[in-house]
Formats: sequence, structure tokens, C-alpha cells
Amino acid sequence: MLKRKDARMCLIFFYSGIGVLLVSRGTKYLAGDAAEFVSGFADGLIVGAVGLLVLAGLVLSFRLRCPNCGKRYARPRWNVFHTDYCTNCKKPFIYDDDPEGGAR
Ligand SMILES: [Zn+2]
Repeated sequence: MLKRKDARMCLIFFYSGIGVLLVSRGTKYLAGDAAEFVSGFADGLIVGAVGLLVLAGLVLSFRLRCPNCGKRYARPRWNVFHTDYCTNCKKPFIYDDDPEGGAR
């Protein structure tokens, strides 16, 4: 069974990675020809953003694999929304907080 906590962790890492990336690009754009260190700081943020995206990928590949065949990844869902099915073995991806038999 998949853990909701893992799905949320993956989503948080992913979206904060994207967020940091946007902040980094935005800072660089707004700073323009301003001080060198602002630009350096913005570049430093990219390392953090990539790190967060890598973490999201790690959570996905280690914690959100199909519990049945392990060949596909479950789509991380923040809440009980509806049940996705593995495209390889056709088994439903059931999270630990899903109602009995899966959510619709
Ligand atoms: Zn499967």
C-alpha cells in the first residue's frame, strides 16, 4: 500500500523546487545589472531547486512505485481524489487513507 505521507512529501519537494527555480530566475531578471552577488545568489538558488527536484524524484522512485509489479509509479495525490491504476499490471494504486476498495 502506498503512503499518503510519501505522496505529499513528493509533491512538496516538487513544487518547492519549481518555486525556488522561479524565485531564482525572477531575482536574476529583476536584479538586471545590479550587484554581482545578487546574481550569484540567484545562481546558488538553482542548486537548491535542482536538489529539491531530485528529492521529489527519489521519493517517487523509492516510495511510490506500484506495490504490485514495481514497474510503474503512482501519481502522487495530496488527498483521496480518485484511484489511479497501474498501466502495467492494472492494479489500483491504493493509499493508506483511501476508503475500502479505492476512491472514485
Ligand atoms: Zn503495477
